[in-house]
Amino acid sequence: MQFAELVATYDKLAATTKRLEMRQILAELFQRLPPDEIAEAVYLSQGLLRPEFEGIELGVAGQLARRALADALGIPEEKVAQHVRQSGDLGTTAAELAAGGPSGGEGAGRTSTVREVYAALLAIATASGDGSQKKKIELLAEVLRGAGPSEAKYLTRLVLGQLRLGVGTQTILDSLADAFAPGDKAARLPIENAYNVSSDLGLVATSLAKDGLPGLQGIHLQVGRPIRPMLAERSPDLVDVLKRMDGGAALEYKYDGLRIQAHIPATGPAKLFSRRLEEMSAQFPELIEELPKVITTRPAIVEGECVSVSPETGELQPFQEISRRRGRKYDLERMQAEVPVRLFLFDVLLAGDEESAELDFPARRHRLEKILAPTDRVQLATQRVVASVEEATAFFDESIADGCEGVMAKSLAAGSRYRAGARGFWWIKYKREYTISLADSIDGVVVGAFHGRGRRAGAFGAFLLATYNRQSDLYETFCKAGSGFDDAQLAEMPKRLERFRSPESPKNVSSSIVPDQWFRPGLVLEVRGAELSLSAIHRAAFGAVRPGAGFALRFPRFTGNFREDKGPEEATTADELVKLYTSQVRHHAVEGPGDAG
Ligand code: ATP
Repeated sequence: MQFAELVATYDKLAATTKRLEMRQILAELFQRLPPDEIAEAVYLSQGLLRPEFEGIELGVAGQLARRALADALGIPEEKVAQHVRQSGDLGTTAAELAAGGPSGGEGAGRTSTVREVYAALLAIATASGDGSQKKKIELLAEVLRGAGPSEAKYLTRLVLGQLRLGVGTQTILDSLADAFAPGDKAARLPIENAYNVSSDLGLVATSLAKDGLPGLQGIHLQVGRPIRPMLAERSPDLVDVLKRMDGGAALEYKYDGLRIQAHIPATGPAKLFSRRLEEMSAQFPELIEELPKVITTRPAIVEGECVSVSPETGELQPFQEISRRRGRKYDLERMQAEVPVRLFLFDVLLAGDEESAELDFPARRHRLEKILAPTDRVQLATQRVVASVEEATAFFDESIADGCEGVMAKSLAAGSRYRAGARGFWWIKYKREYTISLADSIDGVVVGAFHGRGRRAGAFGAFLLATYNRQSDLYETFCKAGSGFDDAQLAEMPKRLERFRSPESPKNVSSSIVPDQWFRPGLVLEVRGAELSLSAIHRAAFGAVRPGAGFALRFPRFTGNFREDKGPEEATTADELVKLYTSQVRHHAVEGPGDAG
């Protein structure tokens, strides 16, 4: 397919805010694409080159893109810079300058295919070492040279990492179903399952385009490719937990750390993936070293929670400690000594030639016990099978006393297989805070910010937060949060948010409040609040409980936890808000009047 044709589709996508229309436009595109080009087109439409877990980032610097554009058009760089100052966006500038350029907007008679453009972008993203900047400029100038206005616009936005089509994973999955199993409502589930097992939309699309639904059967667990994590529901108390588990369950300590999915090949180094499937092998060299020694059957995929332990006492430490190790690239040796960690394994998905994700939980735990030769650094998650509320309460108390957050109850019933990417009552989390106020914290996505006043003048003073609605693929606001930030955190907010800045309300954001600055959904913050109430102002789960009303979080307060392990699609969902609302313990908070949403 010609890149110009793909770009024409992007223009159509950009022109609509209606999900159904977007879905249709994408479905038509997927049908037209040759099977060996569909993966590239899928990644590109999300502003990616490869599945996210591979960590290959587009995102070249603005200055580099300006240079390349100037070279391609044969004009001075200053002319490009000047135009950007007026247009405010390099993509717009690229389109306008290309339209008036030597080719008169027609391209130089040289057309590129999707595959050629993709190959060039991949080369740009992966160029490294001496002279790589120069190489990137040359490669980019080369693809820009023959580009028409729209192509130039999207090429620039792609390389800057600013595509902003607002096409989420759910929309792509819907469109794939429409394209390759039209009219078959049951097709959505196997398509989503294939994605949950592979975390790779390009692979799912290719398999569908080549062989239709049967093609998905070829997608299996693979060492080195993360599986989307199974997630837990919440429950207001242990009585409810046991009732839902038919009177008996395996209770485990709920460790307060970082979730880790470890992939240990038969030979060669292990890989570690985070809750949001980013690779973090480099941050935990001690685990990379230890895992192949303690996992006796390989290849293996195991999951666990990595917790920091006090170097002095060996006691478990709260999440804030281990978060110091996250994203670290330097001083690794010092950090290993300052923040030593222990990994508590709680699941196994693959061991030797055997996939265990399909086994029920008791069989998986048994398998995990068999393949692990525990050490101080890598151990089994503490577990006890309980059959009464008394036993469960005793175990919960022990867990808290040992420095954990609460318990994770796991079903022992037939059918308790590992459900990749799904949140269900097969696992139920019950935390200490549940007994105090609102049953859980909420992970909100920043979609806007407000200028501060008084002491906060000149900085952002509060943030507009949204939850994610999976059905509509929209981010819907639920509060304006200004409390709980210390000065240092507030000061770093603009930097954390910079790459998400948006001149207007992003298409996938639903808000009746207009902030001083909009942001595309990207940064996730954990907030607590007094309670959820119905609100005509906020849009979260709008109409789910009462027509014309969404949910607002009263007295929101940032917990200090930047949820870097979550992408916007992993934030709290509208469905979860509805459940929190119906289960919330109604005693009013003792907090003073704050900046309630
Ligand atoms: P979620 O992961 O459900 O979206 P979250 O990231 O906000 O929510 P919590 O609500 O605190 O996290 O609880 C779920 C997390 O608890 C798991 O993703 C995992 O990281 C952690 N965890 C700790 N101990 C266990 C355990 N024994 N079994 C499973 N998960 C555990």
